[in-house]
Amino acid sequence: MPELPEVEVVARGLRQRVLGHVVRGAQVRTAGLRWPLPPALPELVAGRRIERIERRGKYLLMHLGDGALILHLGMSGSLRFLEHWSPPQRHDHVDIELAGGWLRLHDPRRFGALLWHGAGDGPLAAHPLLARLGVEPLGGSFDGGVLHRGTRGRRVAIKQLLLAGQVVVGVGNIYASESLFRAGIRPTTRAARLSRERCDRLADAIRQTLAQAIERGGSTLRDFAGADGQGGYFQLECAVYGRQGEPCRACGMPVRMAHHQQRATYWCPRCQT
Ligand SMILES: [Zn+2]
Repeated sequence: MPELPEVEVVARGLRQRVLGHVVRGAQVRTAGLRWPLPPALPELVAGRRIERIERRGKYLLMHLGDGALILHLGMSGSLRFLEHWSPPQRHDHVDIELAGGWLRLHDPRRFGALLWHGAGDGPLAAHPLLARLGVEPLGGSFDGGVLHRGTRGRRVAIKQLLLAGQVVVGVGNIYASESLFRAGIRPTTRAARLSRERCDRLADAIRQTLAQAIERGGSTLRDFAGADGQGGYFQLECAVYGRQGEPCRACGMPVRMAHHQQRATYWCPRCQT
């Protein structure tokens, strides 16, 4: 599943390729993904210029004049830029036609989203999908203080709290496991028990882990492709994720794995307390 670094890589790729382009139209080949697609999509987007491309959590926000497309890649989506048109394949649900190419949305499992937010729909940040998202982990306002305040009184395991996305967005299973290893914190530790110092360490670890992944082009996930169709390779670098029984890269102890809330959790029993 594309996680925050992959979506950030797509956003950066899109900025390089399509920022400033004028949209000519759209071809829609499905009634809906996770939600129905706007039936009037071609008319809504035609003639508008792509003025800004933002990422908020795992949503891509493409500002087109006074409206915006809200895109989500779901479990298996990808967005590719085609300089030369090619016939759509199975699961290529939408083409957005630009003056200099096409953006093609591919999503076999259809958990992704493509929604239109018009000028009359109020501020984009108040959209129900965006309004309750936590702090951006790579933004200037995320630090140990945010984590410390967000964990007070929370009996849930710290990894669960990270995955829930209400304190900080976009820290999915791989990055939560890796960040907790980097910070030396056991994933099952109750959130409320983390000291300010450990929250500081964890916030740093989250920023570093995500930044490293973005630098390397996002992790290779089965169905992920960047805006240019190329995948990344972060997964080769994991310290604990997917390494059950293999020696910890720091101390040599076998990495452990357990399922918590149906998600695989990996940790080193010596380095993480
Ligand atoms: Zn270790």
